[in-house]
Amino acid sequence: MPELPEVDAVVRRLREAAEKARVESVVVERAGTVAPQGMEEIGVVAGRRMERVWRRAKYILMEFSGGVYLRVHLRMTGNLYVLPDWRLRPVGARVWWRLSDGRVMIYEDPRALGRVHVVGWEEIEALDRELGPEPLGEEFTVGVLREILRGVKAPVKPVLMDQRRVAGIGNIYASEALWWARIHPGRPAGEVAAGKVKVLHGAIRKVLEHAVGSAYAEYTQPGKMAESESFGVEVYGREGERCSRCGTGVERMVQGGRSTFYCRRCQAW
Ligand SMILES: [Zn+2]
Repeated sequence: MPELPEVDAVVRRLREAAEKARVESVVVERAGTVAPQGMEEIGVVAGRRMERVWRRAKYILMEFSGGVYLRVHLRMTGNLYVLPDWRLRPVGARVWWRLSDGRVMIYEDPRALGRVHVVGWEEIEALDRELGPEPLGEEFTVGVLREILRGVKAPVKPVLMDQRRVAGIGNIYASEALWWARIHPGRPAGEVAAGKVKVLHGAIRKVLEHAVGSAYAEYTQPGKMAESESFGVEVYGREGERCSRCGTGVERMVQGGRSTFYCRRCQAW
């Protein structure tokens, strides 16, 4: 599943390839991808120029001339990219946009769980309000993280993964950041000591920045990064292997239905 770093890589590539390009026509190959919208809504992008593309949590947002916006969520297997010619589109192409220079922007999604919608600015603002700060944004300071955790009795790991509190720290990166900060994932969020919060903040940034760089260099298909160890995963998916810091076996536990990996010794309660 594409996580924040992969979505960020998709956005950066699109920015390079398609920003300022003009859309000539829109083709919806699978109605479910844009439902409940139809061509009447999706088609309004035709004839407009893509002014900018950005990311909010795991949403890809695009602004077109005339104040029209496109909101894309990749879910499990979605991918969005530009090809030199529409005839090169893959079997899993669900929606595509022919560009005036002959190229094509493709929304590919083999499992077809992702969604593509045309939205207004109010919906972009509503999305913004529902989500916590971006962990890589300037607004995410040590003080902000301290406020997010303050007084919260729930375990720190699921709190970090709650999109309403902080947007876009996925399962892998929450496990990794807690290992770097030497914090037990089950510890109540409000009980993480002030000094540790500062270390955790740095660890979240470090892990995500590293993953973003790695995803940009390597991301081609959804799911690839989760299996790849190229960004130097320390504990995620390494149950039974030795912790690189102390040699104790990495353990797995389930929190909120998701696997958490940690070192019992480095991340003592
Ligand atoms: Zn350890």
